[in-house]
Amino acid sequence: MMFHEYKNVIEDGDTVIVYLNHNSMSPLKVEAGQVYNNRFGTFKHDDMIGLKYGSKVVNKDGKGFVFLLHPTPALWTQVVPHRTQILYLPDISFISLYLDLRPGKIMIESGTGSGSFSHSIARTIAPTGHLYTFEYHEIRAQTARKEFIEHNLTDVVTIEHRDVIANGFGKRNIADAVFLDLPAPWDAVAAAKDALRKDTIGRICCFSPCIEQVQRTALALDEHGFSEIRMYESLAKDYEIRNIPQPDIDEVIDGQRVSFKPVKSDKKKRKLENDSACSGTDTDANGSTVKELTVTKPTDVVRGHTSYLTFAILAPEEGDDIDMSE
Ligand code: SAM
Repeated sequence: MMFHEYKNVIEDGDTVIVYLNHNSMSPLKVEAGQVYNNRFGTFKHDDMIGLKYGSKVVNKDGKGFVFLLHPTPALWTQVVPHRTQILYLPDISFISLYLDLRPGKIMIESGTGSGSFSHSIARTIAPTGHLYTFEYHEIRAQTARKEFIEHNLTDVVTIEHRDVIANGFGKRNIADAVFLDLPAPWDAVAAAKDALRKDTIGRICCFSPCIEQVQRTALALDEHGFSEIRMYESLAKDYEIRNIPQPDIDEVIDGQRVSFKPVKSDKKKRKLENDSACSGTDTDANGSTVKELTVTKPTDVVRGHTSYLTFAILAPEEGDDIDMSE
């Protein structure tokens, strides 16, 4: 079981994501002889072993069902047991892009917290890169270490129980990028500078909820020789996908009445939408064909502020040996 590789079949000991619906998922370690209970009934782990990932599994009474998904960092972020506040996908993907993360990169992160960010980074830089992550809360460090072992991430992630503000990272000139999610990131900027490579452009991102913290971090970055200091905020807006009836243009021209209202009860309509999702057609109350159009519509809600993302780069100085391969 790997979070950065995929396999087809569920085996004894695997972690699966039990999917009820888009808003209801939970992690489950599959163990022979065990049972899993939820509001839809009791599910035997033995019935899960040997199924393909993505399969539907039915409960003991043959009525309720759930889907068993292969874990991914994106799903893990939705189900991870929270020990701290965590980073979510809109911020994680933005940071990964701006830190230029890709396979082979060496990254330093502090604090590890609940390991939400670490799981995504591990997949992004695997198999040849490495994430060194630091956490000063001992129980959190132990819990994250256990999860990294269970998720087979130890070839890509090393966690250390360490106060990075008091003791630095203990690494010099190795990191392509540093990410700080700490209450006082400005106090770790000097240590970040030590850890970053000097033969190429080093990148840093600091995650802070309030603008006063951003100002202090920006001052510290400037004092330590970082440049291109920029701050962003990632505000995500979700889009829903819907099928809507598409009027026939000839009928409209002929002046026939065209109904835009759902022609079936909600339940029947949903079934039709699922059944006809690929065909793009539906039938109206008289059984004649109504063309459907699949459209996306933004939801009214924009997810609120999480944090400000302050980025900067550390360029090689005169006299530094520059790696031209980058
Ligand atoms: N980014 C993480 C995630 O996505 O799960 C969450 C990080 S959490 C908000 C911040 C963490 O930094 C906490 O777990 C805290 O214990 C840790 N921390 C705070 N000060 C620290 C320090 N000086 N050295 C190391 N870790 C520290």
